[in-house]
Amino acid sequence: MRTDLLQRLAAQQHQRASQQLVRRLRTLEDASHVRVRIAGRTLVSFASNDYLGLAGHPALRKALIEGAQRWGVGATASHLLGGHRRPHAQLQELVCDWLQRPRALLFSTGYMANLGVLGSLLGARDLCLQDKLNHRSLLDGAKLAGCALKRYAHADLDAAVRQLRAHPDCGALWVTDGVFSMDGDLAPLPELAALAQREQALLMVDDAHGIGVLGPEGAGSARAAGLGVPEVPIYMGTLGKALGCFGAFVVGSDTLIEGLLQFAGTHTYTTALPPALAAAAAAAIQVARHETWRREQLGLLVRHLRAGAQRRGLTLLPSATPIQCLVLGGSQAALAAAQALERAGYYVPAIRPPTVPTGQARLRISLCALHQEHEVEGLLDALAAHCHSTAQPGREGTHAH
Ligand SMILES: *Cc1c(COP(=O)(O)O)cnc(C)c1O
Repeated sequence: MRTDLLQRLAAQQHQRASQQLVRRLRTLEDASHVRVRIAGRTLVSFASNDYLGLAGHPALRKALIEGAQRWGVGATASHLLGGHRRPHAQLQELVCDWLQRPRALLFSTGYMANLGVLGSLLGARDLCLQDKLNHRSLLDGAKLAGCALKRYAHADLDAAVRQLRAHPDCGALWVTDGVFSMDGDLAPLPELAALAQREQALLMVDDAHGIGVLGPEGAGSARAAGLGVPEVPIYMGTLGKALGCFGAFVVGSDTLIEGLLQFAGTHTYTTALPPALAAAAAAAIQVARHETWRREQLGLLVRHLRAGAQRRGLTLLPSATPIQCLVLGGSQAALAAAQALERAGYYVPAIRPPTVPTGQARLRISLCALHQEHEVEGLLDALAAHCHSTAQPGREGTHAH
């Protein structure tokens, strides 16, 4: 008799429920900058990846509206079959100019960009080397490519080199997040790039959380580390996080981009990004480059949050980026903290396994240039009140299951 696939899915769902791991969709009834309306209440949100506060920026709204008026809504076809419009071409040129890279290619999402790059470069006889905390899309990309996938302990470059040396004769792609999405720390890019060059592995950086936030003009973690195309030959950035839009790009050499254009299925066989969105993303890049106060404000808020947490005996994970995490241990502890914050007027979702390792459920606080210091202060007070009332210092895991 065949397995009933839906019944099996239901059983897996039951198991998740028994471990406090069920995910629920929350509908935001309104969202304006850092304020969101959920279940009839207005909360200050520390949940979005809109680090620069661009998603509601007037210049982006205007570019989107004018783009829709000029180009309509949908691109109507894939890039290669008539969907590639002038705003896409202009956006690609702007990305190249901003990041000082020779060529760029747009993808509809970062997930698809990652699948496309890994699928184009890697085959069954190759090796893909990844940090254990890399984003899920990079793991999926390696699985789909059918290559050998080796994951090293977070930021353990000695282990990474050992794994490369154990496979001396195959093509090797070394892939890392630039900023780790659920921890907020930076990959050690200068050391990593030097080792990749020495071991003749091709390096790819996924900078979904670094682009717009780090480096000169917000040009991302590779530029922040002074690394160009020779050191970081493949660089992926998304348009849906700090840039407040939607979509993604890959930049690199002519050879890379030409190859992706020929072989990346997630580019060829999907509808192009709406042209109006490409126009909005171009406007976002202009704002991100030139409104430097947004990055300065973020820097201030990060320091304010970290100092305030320390004063209250709350230990955050090491991070100099707008992603700041308080590890609480069990899923129940993380959920309870998120609920307490919500009662106090703050939206900070709990991040649970399998998104993070078992026993490391956490609150992921993401800062935005539009937050004010008193809002950060209020969040810290609410967090301290909760943690101290549950004797939950944020230093160790609780024993809740
Ligand atoms: C969000 C994210 C992606 C996926 O980007 P989307 O454009 O949202 O699909 C890829 N990599 C990392 C590290 C991310 O955080």
